[in-house]
Amino acid sequence: MTTAYEYDVLVMGAGLAGMRAALAAHEAGARVAIMTKVHPVRSHSNAAQGGINAAMTDRGDDWEEHAFETVKGSDYLADQDAVEILAQEAGREILTLEHMGVIFNRNEEGRLGTRRFGGQKRARTFFVSDFTGQAMLHVLFEQLMKARVPVFEEWFVTSLVKDADGRCAGLIGFEIRTGQFALVKAKAVIVASGGLGRVFEPSTNALICTGDGMAIAYRAGAALMDMEMVQYHPTTLKGKGLLITEAARGEGAYLLNRDGERFMKRYAPNMMELASRDVVSRAGQTEINEGRGVDGCVLLDCRHLGRRLIHERLRQISDEVHSFAGIDLTKEPVPIRPGMHYQMGGIKTDVDGRCWDRHGAWAGVPGLFAAGETACLSLHGGNRLGANSLLDTVVFGRRAGRCAAEYAREVPTPHVPDSTVGMEQQAVSALLSRHANTDSVATIRHEMGVAMHTHLGVFRDQEGMMTAKETLEALHDRYSRVGVQDKGQVFNTSLIRALELGFMLDCAETIVRSALLRRESRGAHFRTDYLHRDDAQWLKHILVYHQPDGSPRVAYLPVRLTRWEPKVRTY
Ligand SMILES: Cc1cc2nc3c(=O)[nH]c(=O)nc-3n(C[C@H](O)[C@H](O)[C@H](O)COP(=O)(O)OP(=O)(O)OC[C@H]3O[C@@H](n4cnc5c(N)ncnc54)[C@H](O)[C@@H]3O)c2cc1C
Repeated sequence: MTTAYEYDVLVMGAGLAGMRAALAAHEAGARVAIMTKVHPVRSHSNAAQGGINAAMTDRGDDWEEHAFETVKGSDYLADQDAVEILAQEAGREILTLEHMGVIFNRNEEGRLGTRRFGGQKRARTFFVSDFTGQAMLHVLFEQLMKARVPVFEEWFVTSLVKDADGRCAGLIGFEIRTGQFALVKAKAVIVASGGLGRVFEPSTNALICTGDGMAIAYRAGAALMDMEMVQYHPTTLKGKGLLITEAARGEGAYLLNRDGERFMKRYAPNMMELASRDVVSRAGQTEINEGRGVDGCVLLDCRHLGRRLIHERLRQISDEVHSFAGIDLTKEPVPIRPGMHYQMGGIKTDVDGRCWDRHGAWAGVPGLFAAGETACLSLHGGNRLGANSLLDTVVFGRRAGRCAAEYAREVPTPHVPDSTVGMEQQAVSALLSRHANTDSVATIRHEMGVAMHTHLGVFRDQEGMMTAKETLEALHDRYSRVGVQDKGQVFNTSLIRALELGFMLDCAETIVRSALLRRESRGAHFRTDYLHRDDAQWLKHILVYHQPDGSPRVAYLPVRLTRWEPKVRTY
């Protein structure tokens, strides 16, 4: 049995971007609902630790400086009009969050306090200890409940639906608790489904970060852009790859090699440990590769920060390091290494979240919007600055929500037959009815993650990426035959893992395809066979479109420059 629902605006995802978008659409008068595979406050935004950037003029800061440092951090791949909006609207969004109830840390004068993050000369990162994302997520969820926005909680979205004119018309998904499918029709859909971190193994991201929305939008005709730009964070804990927030270095922690040397002085003499993430990750990996590491790691030293500061401002990571590595931050340095953290690329949008171009410069799906980590404006270009992602979720979540509500006012209700859901259900049933063989979803997922980490990590080259491409082709083939053990309807997590794997393989393929094309080194995409940035050839974005045979079609868009000409990047 299936059910059909109908809204003006439907949001996929209840992280910071999804909830901010839903609130904005609600405030603009739209009938809005959210579908999410986990309870809203379990969304991955919960993990964000260090803070959110904004240049506030009351303390002598300047949005242009924030914008310039974001563009420089991106290695000049960011679209500068989008970055200007981000920096200009940041302060207002921090105050809105504060008024909603986010209890940001205060300084000695009782004003909102800030800390310094990488790639930026000033302390402009607002924070709630080292659990900023959690604090923001809970407050936004309260606002959502106050506004009585319906939430389809623990519903798994499997595909996007279009009408006969190719306009986005809603989502299909099933309730995890019962296995019951539903078609949720909407005039506008906002995909805010987060990142794809788990395409790499290990990753700082939660197991739920599987790129579902990117793959779903891609399969429906949206463009994915900048997919080759994958951020490796410089400080992830040895072993499982847990994140040690950049706030630790923002508060003054050092990076040391085997000889106790602050090695960043050789790579970024001015900014040292607070150079941009791609630079610090390459430095750390170089130390490890050249034999100056300690057991495959370098060291993060917080000892000189003192017990009080660590307790007040880095309490969560102090607990994590103690629980997972048995290390007391106040007494010993922590072994860390670069680890996969963030996807700069994603579903191509304009500055209001639209996934189609009204002027026809790029193709997409009318009625489809995207926001948050799943989207690509391109704000972060080749490398995101720390604390710019939370800002991205709220600034561009709000803009997408408002624009989707406006769009929904102008268009008629799309027509899609209720039978559409039956076809989707059959496809999922076909996957479910496959006989189990000796292969498993978990094995394929692991092999994919290891191949991506090995060949598309901090350093890349043609040969390695071709190996990854061939591995992915073989894994795709195995995926088409792999069985699902659990045949039930109720909380079938095996089925969910299998569907997620399909999404991840599609995302992985677009990353490899784009990375092979970009024959230069820029931001996080560092090729040992093309060591330099090549603005003459590559000051442009790579877009990929899904084709009926499953292979990507490639297109290019020039980078939009407003006021900052590309320069040599030093820190
Ligand atoms: C450990 C860690 C620390 C970080 N710290 C910071 C920081 O201090 N500052 C900063 O700026 N950035 C930080 N980041 C990055 C930032 O947290 C994320 O980029 C951001 O929170 C993503 O928010 P989002 O709303 O786009 O997605 P998410 O919060 O990941 O939400 C995604 C939503 O989509 C839903 N969803 C996904 N697939 C489906 C499906 N198939 N069906 C239904 N629902 C689905 C999920 O249920 C979830 O509700 C950090 C990241 C990590 C990993």
